[in-house]
Amino acid sequence: MSEIGVILPDGSPLKLPAGATGADAAAAIGPRLAADALGIKVDGELRDLGAELPDGAAISIVTAKSKGEDADDALWLIRHDAAHVMATAVTDLWPGTKVSIGPPIADGFYYDFEFPEGERPSEADLERIEAAMREHIAADEPFERSELPAAEAIERFRAEDQPYKVELIEDLVRDDGTETVSLYRNGPFTDLCRGPHAPSTGRIKAFKLNSLAGAYWRGDEKRQMLTRIYGTAFHSQADLDRHQELLELAREHDHRRLGPELDLFRLREEAPGMPFWLPNGTVLWRLVEREVREQLIKRGYAEIKTPRVLDEELWHRSGHWDNYRENMYFVEPNPEGGHEGDERRFALKPMNCPGACLVFASSRHSYRELPLRLAEFGDVSRYEREGVLHGLLRVRAFTQDDAHVYCTLDQVPDEVDSICEAIDELYARFGFDQVRVELSTRPEKSVGTDEQWERATEGLREALERQGREYDVSPGEGTFYGPKIDFHITDALGRSWQMGTCQLDFQMPERFELSYQGEDNAEHRPVMIHRALLGSMERFIGILIEHHGGRFPAWLAPTQAVVLPVSDPHLDYARRVAAELAERGIRVRVDERSESVGRKIRDAELAKVPFMLVAGEREEAEATASVRAHDRGDLGAVAIGEIPALIEAAG
Ligand SMILES: [Zn+2]
Ligand SMILES: [Zn+2]
Repeated sequence: MSEIGVILPDGSPLKLPAGATGADAAAAIGPRLAADALGIKVDGELRDLGAELPDGAAISIVTAKSKGEDADDALWLIRHDAAHVMATAVTDLWPGTKVSIGPPIADGFYYDFEFPEGERPSEADLERIEAAMREHIAADEPFERSELPAAEAIERFRAEDQPYKVELIEDLVRDDGTETVSLYRNGPFTDLCRGPHAPSTGRIKAFKLNSLAGAYWRGDEKRQMLTRIYGTAFHSQADLDRHQELLELAREHDHRRLGPELDLFRLREEAPGMPFWLPNGTVLWRLVEREVREQLIKRGYAEIKTPRVLDEELWHRSGHWDNYRENMYFVEPNPEGGHEGDERRFALKPMNCPGACLVFASSRHSYRELPLRLAEFGDVSRYEREGVLHGLLRVRAFTQDDAHVYCTLDQVPDEVDSICEAIDELYARFGFDQVRVELSTRPEKSVGTDEQWERATEGLREALERQGREYDVSPGEGTFYGPKIDFHITDALGRSWQMGTCQLDFQMPERFELSYQGEDNAEHRPVMIHRALLGSMERFIGILIEHHGGRFPAWLAPTQAVVLPVSDPHLDYARRVAAELAERGIRVRVDERSESVGRKIRDAELAKVPFMLVAGEREEAEATASVRAHDRGDLGAVAIGEIPALIEAAG
C-alpha cells in the first residue's frame, strides 16, 4: 500500500502516503494546524502526533483551541508533559531522587517522589522547582518515545537505582504478560510511560506548583511514604489565574479547616474516619435531620430504627457477603470472656436494607398497605483504607438518610416522582438549585436475570421521562442488585457532587422471601426501592459547609446571634437579653469576655455568627440591642421583643 485514507471530523476524507503520522496529517491540513497540534485522536483514542496512522481511521487533531472532549485531552496532554518536566527539575535539583508515578488528574497533575535520605523539600522549594521547570520549557525539549523489551527496561531502571519503576514493570510482566514497555525522554530525563505526550516541552504555556503532601506508594500505608507534589498547567496565563482564584476560594471554603475552626466537628487519631460532632456541628446536624424528617412526614414515610450489629448469616442472605465483605467490619464476643457456646459472629451493618427487610417481614402485609415506606436515619460502617479518608466526604462511619419503599411494579413511577420532588425541595432549602440526574444501568458484577434488569431499568426511565426531566445515562454504573438514579448538585464554587440516590431492587425481596397478600388473596413479591435524599449526612454537611464557606444562612447557623456587652457592668443585661431570646427559640450566646466591643465584633465575624447584638448603657435603658447583621451592617437599636422576627426574616 503506497497510500492510506483517513477521515476528518467533518467527515471528509484525506489521502496520505503510507506510514504517515499524525504530524503529517496536521501538516497536510494546514501549516497553522501543524504548528498548534498537541496530539491526535485516532478512532477516539488520544495518541502522539508521531504515531503512524492506520488506514481508514477517523482522526481529529487536538490543539489548545479544541472544544468538548478534545479540549479535555489537550489539557491532559500538557499536564502529563508538565508532570514529566517537574520530575526532570526535581531529579536535577535533588540527584538520587527516586521517581514513582506522575499522572495528570482532574485539575492538574502530580508526581510522587522519594527524596534522598534527610532531604525533603518544603513549600518554599516549589519556586526553585518551578524555575528549573521554566528552563526546560524554554529549551523546548522534544518528547521522544522509544520501546524496549521489559527485561531490558528492568535492568536499566535497576542500574539507575529506580526501584519503583522496576516494580511497576515487574507487575506489568506478571499481571498483563507485558513484553515491551515504552519510555519517553525529554531533555536529561527518561520515564517509563505509556504516553501520549505533546511534541515538546515548549507547549506548556502556563503552569504552577501548588502543594506538597505525603502519599503512600500505591496508596498502601504499609509501603513507603512518598512526597507528592501537586501542580497544574493551562494553555494561557489567564486560564491559570482564573483557576488559582477558584483554588484559593476552595481553600477558604474547605470543610476540613472550617469544621474545627467553627467548632463543628473534629477528626481524631483514636477513630480515623469517624467524626466527633461538637455542639455547634450537632445543632447543624439536627437542623438537617429536621428538614429531611419534614419530607418523610409529608410523603407518607414511617420511621424505624434497626440494630447496628447483625448476625453474619444475615449478610450471606442479603448478598453483601459475596459482594461487599471486603468493606465490612466483623465483631464477636471476646473469646476470653467465658462465652463458650455463643460464638456467633456479627457484622457492623454497612447498609440498612437487610434491617428494613426484617422489619417488613415481621408482620403480614396486604396490598392495601402498599407502597409501604420505611425510613431510617441509619448508622452504617464501611471500611475504607486510611489513605483515602477525606474529612467528612469520605469516612468509615456515617448516617444515611435512608428509606426503603415496598411496592408493586406499577407503583414505581409515582414513588420515583415523589422522591424526585422531595430531592428538589430539600436541595433548594439548603441553597442548591442546580440538580443533575443520572440513570445508571447494569454493572458487570451483578445478581438477577436479564429480564428483571430490563424491567427495573425501564421503570426508572419511565418515571424520568414522565416528569420530562433531562437525564444522563451511565452504562454499567448501577449497583449489583439493580439500576439506579443518582442526583448531583453543583455548589457555589461550581463543583459537582453526587448526593441522593434512588435504586430499584428485585433481588432483596427475593432473598428475604418478602411477600404481601394481593387482591386475589394470593401471596405476591413486592418490589423494593432503596432511596436516600442526601445520601450520607456527614458528607452532605461537609458539602454544605463548603457551599456556604461556613457562613450559614440565619436559619441554619448553629449560633444565630451573640450578645456583646459593651463592658462588664452590662453583663447582667446581656444575659437577660440572651435568656429572653432563647425562650423565643433563638440559638444565642453571650460573649462574656472582658474584651473591647470592637474585639468582640471581630471575633463574632470570624465565628461567622449572622447577628451581633451590642448591649450597653443606652440599650439597657431602652430595653433594646444595637443590631449588626453580617450581610447588612448596622441596623440600629431594635427592641428585644422584635429581634426574633428580624432573625427569622433573614431566612
Ligand atoms: Zn508519563
Ligand atoms: Zn437499601
